[in-house]
Amino acid sequence: MRVVVIGAGLGGLALAQGLRQAGIEVDVSERDAGVHARFQGYRIGLSEVGVAALHGCLPASSHPVLDAITGDLAGDRVVLDHQLRRVGDLGPMTALAADRHVLRHLLLHGVDVRFDRRFTGYQVRQDGRVDVHFADGATTTADLLVGADGIGSAVRAALAPGIEPEDTGIRFVLGRTPLTDRFARLVPGAGTVVRGPGLTLMLGLMRFRVPPRQAAPWLPDTADYLRWVCMPDSPRPLPELVEGWHPDLREVLDATSATHTTHLSIRVVRPSTRWPSGPVTLLGDAIHATSPSGGNGANTALRDADLLRRKLIDVARGRISLLDAVEDYERQMFDYGAEAVARSLDALPAFLPGRADQPRVSPVRS
Ligand SMILES: Cc1cc2nc3c(=O)[nH]c(=O)nc-3n(C[C@H](O)[C@H](O)[C@H](O)COP(=O)(O)OP(=O)(O)OC[C@H]3O[C@@H](n4cnc5c(N)ncnc54)[C@H](O)[C@@H]3O)c2cc1C
Repeated sequence: MRVVVIGAGLGGLALAQGLRQAGIEVDVSERDAGVHARFQGYRIGLSEVGVAALHGCLPASSHPVLDAITGDLAGDRVVLDHQLRRVGDLGPMTALAADRHVLRHLLLHGVDVRFDRRFTGYQVRQDGRVDVHFADGATTTADLLVGADGIGSAVRAALAPGIEPEDTGIRFVLGRTPLTDRFARLVPGAGTVVRGPGLTLMLGLMRFRVPPRQAAPWLPDTADYLRWVCMPDSPRPLPELVEGWHPDLREVLDATSATHTTHLSIRVVRPSTRWPSGPVTLLGDAIHATSPSGGNGANTALRDADLLRRKLIDVARGRISLLDAVEDYERQMFDYGAEAVARSLDALPAFLPGRADQPRVSPVRS
């Protein structure tokens, strides 16, 4: 069996790792020129589901490295006002913090990725296999084509053109700044929510148990940082929105360089109508992109990778046909994927100033 994966994000790479361990041939193509082509170094929260999926996909030799490069996210999430007075808490949480860029490097280790190779289309052949086409003119043949190509998925556009990204209309700004003792004091628990006039700022720490480069020499040299996130509903620059706030909070924004600040528009993809199962399927944000407010997009992509990996191992061992495996995967993935998107949208108002109304969701072309 030969599996072609489009997209070397967290989901596609986790699947490739899992198939490689099982001796299943896998070919991964990525449109970016290399792993550093885009800054993607934000912190993600790994749930039990995400960690279990990573353990399922990664070889045992990588498990201690995974443990070393994550940090604990335990304790209460405190709510402060803009003068750092405690005004409440959101209860305890338990998860692991991971840096997306470092995690991606871990998932890349040992996997051959063809970078600079953009998927453009596919054709299902008479023998049931799939010819997969790339922008450089190359074509390869797969028993299964997996679109793990993110929210703007070109595989989805061909397989399920009725499923399109929807724009919440909400602007999302996040940044990271090197961790100092002063900044660390802003986050005494698992995370801090600062509810100021006109802006809600979420603060979280990325504290590696072991600096990544020490955990494995092939990992990026990344130091601990403070991650901040907000969803301003005003076009005014952030420094203006935090005028009059506590100096430590203003300092967080001032200390963040422009290269470490990202502006995003929050879009989601809801898995709606299923296509008839066949030799082409989707995984991760390509089919269920969540709002970052849910903190579950990566966890759900990893869950997909682990589930599909297990189904394909059953196929390789002759226990089930490829078609039944894909159908079973899609049935389960559609259910929990739709739930993950809904949960992320439910969580969105907590990020908005004044806990405003539910966001308006409207379709956009990707
Ligand atoms: C700011 C932010 C914070 C987040 N925090 C969390 C969190 O705390 N917890 C959590 O679980 N999730 C979080 N998420 C969501 C999480 O990052 C995504 O859900 C996850 O990365 C999706 O993985 P993926 O592999 O499906 O897609 P992606 O990581 O988007 O990877 C898709 C890959 O496909 C490639 N590609 C696209 N088109 C083509 C093509 N035509 N040919 C070849 N390659 C192509 C892209 O270049 C990309 O590398 C967050 C997201 C953001 C933006």
